[in-house]
Amino acid sequence: MNILEIGKDCVGCGSCEHSCSHKAITLRPDMEGFYYPIIDNTLCVDCSLCYKSCPQVFHTQELGHQRNIVQFPYNVISRLKRYYKKSASGAVFVTIAHKFLQKYKNAVVCGATYSEGRIHHILVDKIGDLYKLQGSKYVQSQLDDVYPRIKRHLKSNQPVLFSGTPCQVAGLYAYLHNRNIENLYTMDIICHGVPSPKFLKKDLGLYAANNSEISSVQFRKKHPLFKSRSLYFLTIVKKHKPCVSMCFRKSSLNLKLDPYFSLFSKGWTLRRSCYQCHYSNLQRVGDITIGDCDSHVNYPSFHPHEATSVVIINTVAGINLWERTSQYFDFINLDIQKEAEVNVPLRESFKCPPERETIYEEINRLPIQEIKKRYAQKKTMRTVISAFLIDYCPPIIINKFVKLIR
Ligand SMILES: Cc1cc2nc3c(=O)[nH]c(=O)nc-3n(C[C@H](O)[C@H](O)[C@H](O)COP(=O)(O)OP(=O)(O)OC[C@H]3O[C@@H](n4cnc5c(N)ncnc54)[C@H](O)[C@@H]3O)c2cc1C
Repeated sequence: MNILEIGKDCVGCGSCEHSCSHKAITLRPDMEGFYYPIIDNTLCVDCSLCYKSCPQVFHTQELGHQRNIVQFPYNVISRLKRYYKKSASGAVFVTIAHKFLQKYKNAVVCGATYSEGRIHHILVDKIGDLYKLQGSKYVQSQLDDVYPRIKRHLKSNQPVLFSGTPCQVAGLYAYLHNRNIENLYTMDIICHGVPSPKFLKKDLGLYAANNSEISSVQFRKKHPLFKSRSLYFLTIVKKHKPCVSMCFRKSSLNLKLDPYFSLFSKGWTLRRSCYQCHYSNLQRVGDITIGDCDSHVNYPSFHPHEATSVVIINTVAGINLWERTSQYFDFINLDIQKEAEVNVPLRESFKCPPERETIYEEINRLPIQEIKKRYAQKKTMRTVISAFLIDYCPPIIINKFVKLIR
């Protein structure tokens, strides 16, 4: 048994690579740009450790469903208002991380950031650096060597807070074999799947000749007037000047001006394992689960004009973390079944569309301008006006406008 048995179920976390003491495994991008393990047979000793360290095996066999001994779901918004604007929804992650670093002087927090032209996980130990991890990045974040670094911190009794997709959290537990985790706290995000870093890199070519010219990429933006709406907005910051803002939205009136976002919103470009995700259910892998509160209409008197988050406390470690930080949130109990009805990754994974078979072949073969022509909406007077109306008008006026143009 070795890691190649996992095949397309591989989530690309790299637990196998770092578990192999013979350095026989490296993660390499496939044609689509997703990372998969390659084994050097001259170094492999057939010990099966890579297989046993894979979350897709370990999570099912060892971790299983034992972790969710409790489950407390809440609808939540941070009281630390300075963080709210930059976060995807209720600024839960950054508020908990802030209080975590404040309480434990030698602690580290791990999460996804954009730098050096790519999205990857980093470790931060200063409250002032937490802004780097804020905001959802809709792409597979590369974990680099954060698992072994976290292991070293835990060995030195340093508390660690890890945030990531559920498969990345499961990968960390699998890499650690669930040992020496007394000081480890994990937050898994509700995740409907990730496209490839290679496609994002190609897409960014539409805005800058070289990715290194881009200092930040943001995927969400709070509505300037109606804060209850957290817009799906791709903002590229070039050399510290906001230069491109392209709108894309979930509804049928979406202005899908960017091909990467347009295809992401349709779910055509996700990693193959995302279509058979082991973690798209209510048995959560992290101590705390965070996501957007999609059932907020059920709570009309709870912050009706702001985007709020779902928080699910899943374990005893989660309770401890929440008890120390809950005073920094406004929150009410949440009906998790009703949330799962509208927030799909809480009950099932994204269905693989037939277009998935050929889309990456096309993305590889054609220049990005041609992909844009095929899969993004054209920038016409009509789409620009619609985008403006969607973003700046109250919903009642938008509805009237939609009826008019139809
Ligand atoms: C690819 C993806 C798909 C998502 N799909 C859904 C969904 O279907 N339903 C839903 O309710 N919520 C989804 N989310 C989560 C949601 O967008 C917010 O991240 C969540 O509500 C937390 O918001 P916040 O304001 O508390 O955190 P923020 O302050 O915005 O912090 C974001 C947190 O997410 C982590 N993160 C950001 N990007 C990535 C990434 N690419 N990989 C791993 N970790 C990352 C950061 O490390 C940080 O911990 C998704 C997020 C991602 C990245």
